[in-house]
Amino acid sequence: MESILEETKFIMKKHNIRANKSLGQNFLINDSVVNQIIDSSDIKENDLVIEIGPGLGTLTKYLLEKSRKVICIELDTKMIKILEERFKLYDNLEIINEDVLKVNLQSIIKREKENSNIENIKIVANLPYYITTPIIMKLLEEKLDLESIVVMVQKEVADRLIAIPGDKIAGAITYTVYYYSIGEKVEEVPKEYFIPEPEVTSEVIKLKIRKEPPIKVKDEELMFKIIKNAFMQRRKTLLNALNNSNVFKDKYEGIEILNSIGLDQNIRAEKLTLQDFANIANKIL
Ligand code: SAM
Repeated sequence: MESILEETKFIMKKHNIRANKSLGQNFLINDSVVNQIIDSSDIKENDLVIEIGPGLGTLTKYLLEKSRKVICIELDTKMIKILEERFKLYDNLEIINEDVLKVNLQSIIKREKENSNIENIKIVANLPYYITTPIIMKLLEEKLDLESIVVMVQKEVADRLIAIPGDKIAGAITYTVYYYSIGEKVEEVPKEYFIPEPEVTSEVIKLKIRKEPPIKVKDEELMFKIIKNAFMQRRKTLLNALNNSNVFKDKYEGIEILNSIGLDQNIRAEKLTLQDFANIANKIL
């Protein structure tokens, strides 16, 4: 059987494709990584898979074989033509030529659930790295009815996404990911496994969407606003960061709140657990 490298080169030559850097086009060419992505996605025959950025269709080919339906969202019209030609014999593929950040995923999922016997919905993607964070935030914050998300992202970002809140490398997004999902590393992927090579090492991660959040908070939005403000000034103490951003009316209120939930007034954002942030939000309300 032809290797993915040969297949990719063939398709690129046939269609005279040069990867578009500004669209984050780094095509995956390693068979074992493709297998790992497909295996860890754990696709069942009644699943709907939404693939973001299918490109030349490297992952799509396997997703189509395993699932009830694949919906591909791809911005580059050149790729759309290739996908249509390559998969014209499949009747379970829908292609949406649109910026994923503008697609109404909620209504697509609602439509699919109403019209077919879809059991679970899974996201699979080798993401365009220039918009990794907004895509992940969209997938989680829109509370889509998803079972899991398997994505390739930059290693550095992957580590932050699946860190445990309170870890040194945690950022505001760590808390969002942790609130909505349970993250795990699938595998690290060297630059050489793509054409063209990206500038950074990559990593495949899996986020299993939680049925219930791990903590209770009265106002979710307020909690995430506090987390965002706390990490925007992460070198400052939490007290100063939240006072400067008017989360606390003044320092006295801040000290009182921190004391009442057992936090030192010199603590920094990265030391807090998700429960600590929920406690602050619940006190402010
Ligand atoms: N899935 C292919 C693979 O693994 O070889 C290609 C992955 S490549 C890293 C990212 C893909 O996302 C490209 O095909 C690119 O055109 C597409 N893309 C870039 N920006 C996009 C956007 N805003 N919405 C949807 N697709 C986008």
